[in-house]
Amino acid sequence: PPVAIVCVGMAGSGKTTFMQRINAHLHTKHQSSPSNTAPPYVLNLDPAVRSVPFDSNIDIRDSVNYKEVMKQYNLGPNGGILTSLNLFSTKIDQVLGILEKRCLPKEQPAASSQATIPPYILVDTPGQIEVFVWSASGSILLSSFASTFPTVLAYIIDTPRSTENTSTFMSNMLYAISILYKTKLPMILVFNKTDVKDESEAVDWMRDFESFQAALRKDEENEMAGGEGSSGYMGSLLNSMSLVLEEFYNALSVVGVSSMTGEGVEGFFEAVEEKRAEFEKEYRPELERRV
Ligand code: GDP
Ligand code: MG
Repeated sequence: PPVAIVCVGMAGSGKTTFMQRINAHLHTKHQSSPSNTAPPYVLNLDPAVRSVPFDSNIDIRDSVNYKEVMKQYNLGPNGGILTSLNLFSTKIDQVLGILEKRCLPKEQPAASSQATIPPYILVDTPGQIEVFVWSASGSILLSSFASTFPTVLAYIIDTPRSTENTSTFMSNMLYAISILYKTKLPMILVFNKTDVKDESEAVDWMRDFESFQAALRKDEENEMAGGEGSSGYMGSLLNSMSLVLEEFYNALSVVGVSSMTGEGVEGFFEAVEEKRAEFEKEYRPELERRV
């Protein structure tokens, strides 16, 4: 069966641009070898996006009108997104019905010269990450995918922004951890925008405690000189956290990608295959225990 890749991340991290990139990559692969690989199956779950830069097979905007929902229930933007997701999640059985019909392997027609089963299901989520990750409907949607397909989270990170200083980096990592523990799904950290700044510093900070401490000291000096940084208790908190985080880092796959240029996309799909295997081995038995 196809792997469902669910893109999550802070607003502006580049989820939608990343979706566009991996979608284009898979379409190119399909065109160069139509008998070996079908195009992906694509879902947009962001009700508030104005225009989606890729063709989607299922679009939340076709079933709920975000602007109308806001007006009708007298809601602000986040309430509007949340309510739209809630309305959409009441139709999850229909969505799963469609997905099963399109994406679960039946017999390939013998004479077919085209592969028909999508190798991947790509899912874009609302810009505001908390609305999807911490809502009941977000959980319903995620666990529905995961009960039907191997499901992998791609946590998209704005590399240049998140490596501006150590506390921004650490809060991004903490967010990723809390999602990992909440969803209990395999996760790939995607350091995006490597055309602006590559992922090497972030990866160093994750893998090498000394280098994170060195960056921390630099931020402290910087702050004492009147700039932004992490002094005093923040510094010692970050310091002790980075030790605890080691275990978490080892559980993740980490890739650097530029959604702008396409650099690193092959590496991302290698990580997806690793995580597919992990899902089957570790997550599926756990899911079945919980049901
Ligand atoms: P989303 O809110 O997570 O869906 O983020 P978007 O995909 O809408 O992207 C937010 C902004 O980041 C846009 O201005 C994109 O053009 C920009 N962006 C996304 N990916 C990249 C990248 O790989 N490189 C650069 N330089 N900019 C990017
Ligand atoms: Mg988006």
